[in-house]
Amino acid sequence: MVNEITVVDDYGHHPVEIRATLEAARGCKFNRLLVLFQPHRYSRTQHLWDEFCRAFNQADILVLLDIYAASEAPIPGVTSEALATAIRKAGHKNVHYFRSMQEGIEYLLKQACPGTPSLRLARATSAAPAVNSWFCWERRIRRRMRISDPIIVATLAEMNVELQHGAALADLTSLGIGGTTDLLRIRKHESLPGLLKLLDANDVQHKFLGGGSNLLVGDGELPWVVLQLVRPEPDVVLDGSFARVDAAADLGRMITFCAKHDLGGMEGLIGVPGTVGGALRMNAGAYGMQIGSYVREVKLYRAASRTLETLRGDQISFEYRHTSFAPDDMMLSVILELPSKPFKLILEGIRICNEKRRSSQPLGQKSAGCIFKNPPGASAGRMIDELGLKGLSVGDARVSDRHANFFVNAGHASATDMLRLIADVRERVQKNYGVELENEVVVWNA
Ligand SMILES: Cc1cc2nc3c(=O)[nH]c(=O)nc-3n(C[C@H](O)[C@H](O)[C@H](O)COP(=O)(O)OP(=O)(O)OC[C@H]3O[C@@H](n4cnc5c(N)ncnc54)[C@H](O)[C@@H]3O)c2cc1C
Repeated sequence: MVNEITVVDDYGHHPVEIRATLEAARGCKFNRLLVLFQPHRYSRTQHLWDEFCRAFNQADILVLLDIYAASEAPIPGVTSEALATAIRKAGHKNVHYFRSMQEGIEYLLKQACPGTPSLRLARATSAAPAVNSWFCWERRIRRRMRISDPIIVATLAEMNVELQHGAALADLTSLGIGGTTDLLRIRKHESLPGLLKLLDANDVQHKFLGGGSNLLVGDGELPWVVLQLVRPEPDVVLDGSFARVDAAADLGRMITFCAKHDLGGMEGLIGVPGTVGGALRMNAGAYGMQIGSYVREVKLYRAASRTLETLRGDQISFEYRHTSFAPDDMMLSVILELPSKPFKLILEGIRICNEKRRSSQPLGQKSAGCIFKNPPGASAGRMIDELGLKGLSVGDARVSDRHANFFVNAGHASATDMLRLIADVRERVQKNYGVELENEVVVWNA
């Protein structure tokens, strides 16, 4: 597996074998079948020419490489280039011929996972098998994910979960990019275990959305539904220096509310959009502080046990934009311990941080904050800036002129545009600095 792509190596050469394998693959739960094939021997290719023209009908994309001679002399007119033309004439719409195997593999991998770092692609290709075999890339099935079964709809209502059909994630994310899917809004934390059991039982994949300020969501019909907590009233309850905060609370409003009660410490996080749950997941931080430092307890849905659990702060590790929560854990509420500080002093800290943000970030534009994490001891933004990449664009996806680590949607950028821009910048930084930048933005590929 590379990302969510399964690589299958098969030694079938005969069109009947090829058809059988592709039909079997179609029967599995995969999205697309991306096939790379090197015909074996000129004589076989000539003899079975017509069968080869129909053997790849199940493949979404077919890449052909030069015929493997196996010590035969070439036969005039029997080439992979000509076979590609013949397969196209037979009705296949996505056939490509490459002279070099490396180019063919790279082409397919780019189709399978646009935006994947070139180094990872290189590692994947170096694991590619011998020359005269064929193999295919298959991605998990990309189904239109809509909840229409009346029994599921009724059960959701009983659980107090609101179902919104065809929600546009472009409207729910700060980048303004993303396709459509069903949105499930959860009013009661207690319904989560039952809800996830229901989704699992019906083979419905899901993602968990906070405020959508650190997300790059794929285009088109999305193959999973999105869960989101509904913010309760009140969402922050104070008890001395402790604040119990719902994960759906808005981070900035929570900081201001606590400040008004002389509880400070998190001034640096003012201006970080999104929810408290998202901030916990990302261990949001700025100007030398991070939310993890104040966490004393987290209530969460634990994917491993499928139950609601409570963790003490010292059971969780908070690192730079990384936490020890499992990917499917869902944070529901948190207890923060905040230092007391006079409101006036907190306000002054907030004013300074706001000023710093205003002077360095493209705040009026659609972005997801920093695209890349800073590598140890270096600044991703500085490297991108030094390479003169401010303003670099793919479609409407653009490296901000203000802050080189902010990529903005300057109009109607698609996820594909943004992923290409990310891949391009990453490649240039890798080439010039030998550093492979890691995404800070969370990518939900379609
Ligand atoms: C203008 C701008 C400035 C920014 N500045 C900063 C900054 O200074 N520092 C910084 O750290 N970040 C910054 N960000 C990024 C972003 O605001 C933070 O990462 C924020 O904490 C994300 O919260 P969210 O609720 O929007 O999460 P989302 O974007 O909705 O989700 C992000 C990830 O968290 C997961 N998630 C969300 N809620 C939960 C939950 N309750 N339980 C489990 N998982 C959850 C999602 O599944 C996803 O994987 C900035 C973004 C913008 C647009």
